[in-house]
Amino acid sequence: MKIIELLKNSRLSLSFEVFPPKTEMGFESVKVATEEIARLRPAFMSVTYGAGGGTSRYTLDIAKNIKEMYDVPTLAHLTCVSSTRETVKEKIRAIREAGIENVMALRGDIPAGMENEDRSRWDYRYAIDLVRELKEENPDFCIGGACYPEIHPESSNQKEDIRHLKEKVDAGCDFLTTQMFFDNNLLYNFLYKIREAGITVPVIPGIMPITNANQVERAMKLSGSFMPQRFKSLVDKFGGDPAAMKQAGIAYATDQIIDLFANGITNVHVYSMNKPDVAEKIQSNLSDMLGK
Ligand code: FAD
Repeated sequence: MKIIELLKNSRLSLSFEVFPPKTEMGFESVKVATEEIARLRPAFMSVTYGAGGGTSRYTLDIAKNIKEMYDVPTLAHLTCVSSTRETVKEKIRAIREAGIENVMALRGDIPAGMENEDRSRWDYRYAIDLVRELKEENPDFCIGGACYPEIHPESSNQKEDIRHLKEKVDAGCDFLTTQMFFDNNLLYNFLYKIREAGITVPVIPGIMPITNANQVERAMKLSGSFMPQRFKSLVDKFGGDPAAMKQAGIAYATDQIIDLFANGITNVHVYSMNKPDVAEKIQSNLSDMLGK
């Protein structure tokens, strides 16, 4: 099922993100964790490509397993920046053969050591290059793109970032998913600005439940997200007590999702990071709203 079709449904829903294992040895445990998440019957599940510690090799294996075993629609992530056109075409062929209809078209982070290379020689410089190619050669795919309520770290200002986002959407994105954020007002401001700029596709907010104190620094570094005082206080108070921190982090994410639902968002994407217990707890906190 295409995500763009799912998003037409006005029922409130959650989707969950998982990442593939780093090594073959880790495959079985990731498979089990992702299956437990799939049993919650989310609207869809996304499987990252290399990000979050996993490798790109297993993205499709995990996505295919979720789809075939649990009939949960899947979104396969694909990055392009350090790849050749041939490799990307091969990956796209494999996605099609696996029966997956949804692709998150990403640039990916510039690999260390490549920052100062002459980019004019790269096959893909930005995600738009991949979006354009997918749209031209696989027009039946449902294509997602990433967006950044607090601007992408490489952008010098939000106006420029939104101008590039508009070009990416016009090239063929059917929907957008946001980077994590911890203050919903940042999302509402961003939505206002992109709608003003003429971006009309659905935007799925991405929420990251922070369930341990170590995750805080990593998540901030990765996303450059603003940490509201309310969240800082929570980490200060409960960071040293793993069980309490987990409970508080889940409650904070739940609260953010309720506010998003109350303000007209129908699907929220949860960065569940291969943690079935966290996904389950958030879903059960919202069970009546989700009709589950
Ligand atoms: P782009 O859309 O290409 O944007 C990157 C930067 O380039 C932005 O600053 C943009 O403003 C600028 N830009 C765009 N076009 C132009 C232009 N024509 N001229 C000048 N500047 C331009 N990473 C992974 O490795 N694997 C994953 O699975 C993964 N999943 C993600 C999912 C989501 C929802 C998000 C938000 C991020 C994800 N990432 C993932 C991280 C992502 O790869 C990085 O944030 C990366 O640095 C940018 O990717 P992008 O697709 O947003 O790039």
